Amino acid sequence: CAAQTVSFIGNVKDDGNDPNFNNFDFPHSRNLLHLFKNKFGLHQFRPNQLPAINAIILNLDCFILMPTGGGKSLCYQLPALLAPGITIVISPLRSLILDQTQKLSSLDIPAAYLTGDLNEDQVAEIYHSLKDDNCDLKLLYITPEKLSASSKLGTTLGQLYRKGRLSRFVIDEVHCVSQWGHDFRPDYTKLRVLRDKFPNVPIIALTATATPRVRSDILNQLHLNSPKWFISSFNRPNLRYTIMLKKPKSQFQQVLELIRTKFQGASGIVYCISRRDCDELAKLLQDRNISAISYHAGLEDKLRTERQMHWVSEKVKVICATIAFGMGIDKPNVRFVIHAAMPKSIEGYYQESGRAGRDGEPADCILLYSYGDIYRYRFLMADLKLSNPQAYDIHMDNLYKIVNFCENLSDCRRVLQLNYFGEKFDRQQCIENITTTCDNCKTHDQFENLDVTEDARDLIRLIQSLDSLKKYNVTLLQVVDIFKGCDVSPFAYKLGNVYKPWYGKGESLTKNEVERILHNLLVGEYLCEVMLPNNNIMTGYVTAGKNAPELLNTNNVQIFLQRKRAVSARKTIVVPATSTAQSETNADLLQIENQCYTELCTMVNGIAGALNV
Ligand code: ADP
Ligand code: MG
Ligand code: ZN
Repeated sequence: CAAQTVSFIGNVKDDGNDPNFNNFDFPHSRNLLHLFKNKFGLHQFRPNQLPAINAIILNLDCFILMPTGGGKSLCYQLPALLAPGITIVISPLRSLILDQTQKLSSLDIPAAYLTGDLNEDQVAEIYHSLKDDNCDLKLLYITPEKLSASSKLGTTLGQLYRKGRLSRFVIDEVHCVSQWGHDFRPDYTKLRVLRDKFPNVPIIALTATATPRVRSDILNQLHLNSPKWFISSFNRPNLRYTIMLKKPKSQFQQVLELIRTKFQGASGIVYCISRRDCDELAKLLQDRNISAISYHAGLEDKLRTERQMHWVSEKVKVICATIAFGMGIDKPNVRFVIHAAMPKSIEGYYQESGRAGRDGEPADCILLYSYGDIYRYRFLMADLKLSNPQAYDIHMDNLYKIVNFCENLSDCRRVLQLNYFGEKFDRQQCIENITTTCDNCKTHDQFENLDVTEDARDLIRLIQSLDSLKKYNVTLLQVVDIFKGCDVSPFAYKLGNVYKPWYGKGESLTKNEVERILHNLLVGEYLCEVMLPNNNIMTGYVTAGKNAPELLNTNNVQIFLQRKRAVSARKTIVVPATSTAQSETNADLLQIENQCYTELCTMVNGIAGALNV
């Protein structure tokens, strides 16, 4: 099998290319190949499968990171057949367990599961075979809830262990262990007892997402024993990433137009924040003759399964869903994933957008960005803020990171995402892949970092002085208007003399630029937002944040704004030889009004083209 070259940030061990694992020279190799071909019906190993299988058969602890669809299951299923005892697989969802055990039984591999779906007789039968030393059961799938709730299961595992029939524990979707991950599940943290109770049983950890922070959290919690690492590249070369500015009042219309113009008749997913959004959008699409359906946790189980099946079987083309939809769904020909709202985190974005293009054909991932979505999340998390402030902070941190990702107009989307997962990625690879190059690599725009530290200080002072009145609250958009010297709302007129020193100070910046500076200050906690009800609608108001003094009183921090180079920088325009199209999305995001510049670019491109640069 072909070795892959992936490089990582920092000191990451990678055993995937270790010749000690990546070979066929083991006593078990013959059996391994026989099963691979004849039992699983496969021909060629995917990257990291062979070395991981070997390390698992050698009874080592392993940590396997592979993108979704990369083939993680085989890594433990094949070794399970070569082990003398039983492999226990812990998986977070019943649907995933049912799916896996069905696949195994279609391959005639003896596997069982213990979930609430079974009746008493079926459960009794499984316990009976677990007690039977001659039973041929090789894999037992359970949920972590089952493990912590059922003392009978605990006792049975203890018996198996003492008889040496407990081959290994496999923990699928292991990122659920970590609060820092995008899908934390409290029951997963109880899995730490496995190492204490069954010290000699190897543990295999599998996931398709884990940032370096999540990884070390997993290691600590599960007490993995200097595990072997198998990390595949998370780049999805066939996905085209685009971020567009969302049109606030006509977002659904925008989705409709996208589907009409770019994805007519194609299968896709549109992710929305709320159930109501899903229903409304699906209705709008149906009214315009687009085959669409909504999907969310508010629907009955039966209806959900039915709708999912309709979408998978192509009876319906577009599914408008909350993030409750998608885990474990393996539909190859999804041509687009549109985020009608900002995702909750970069990991979440990677997962959700990653459901496009499983077949390897080009597919689009379009995110409609609006900073305002953050208010909706805050509103949804109001209870969490009270009950678990730490979890709330993590959520906010994740949201701010995705804000930064969306507002970044110059760095490669792949580089940004992959760096987040600790993988180094060469931007050139994205640029060269013409059909699926990301929006920021496709654009010809050149960017500069404008030092806006003084503007930032002015903005904070302005907010502080309004805040000192304690009587009025000021929203982000009001601050923008004052700073730009626009007509301000009647409310703000009353405060005229308070904000006068700053009124119109930011005239030379566009509205969007002032907004982006403010977002930047929020992310860095130089400002903070408080949510207060205004006519029963929760509204975000800005005040100075905990880092404000550092910015105001020291020279330790500088604040920069990414800005397209001015027209006069004509000599610095570099025309990438690979692509000729202008990026509409960046133009959109930047609200480019300077027609002249565009014409200049076109002209330069024309000349470059003629000279074959
Ligand atoms: P993951 O758990 O990493 O998301 P799965 O283990 O579910 O992925 O595998 C995804 C699909 O790839 C499955 O349909 C599986 O049969 C298939 N697959 C796995 N390994 C191979 C291989 N070496 N060759 C061809 N198909 C494979
Ligand atoms: Mg899997
Ligand atoms: Zn790129």
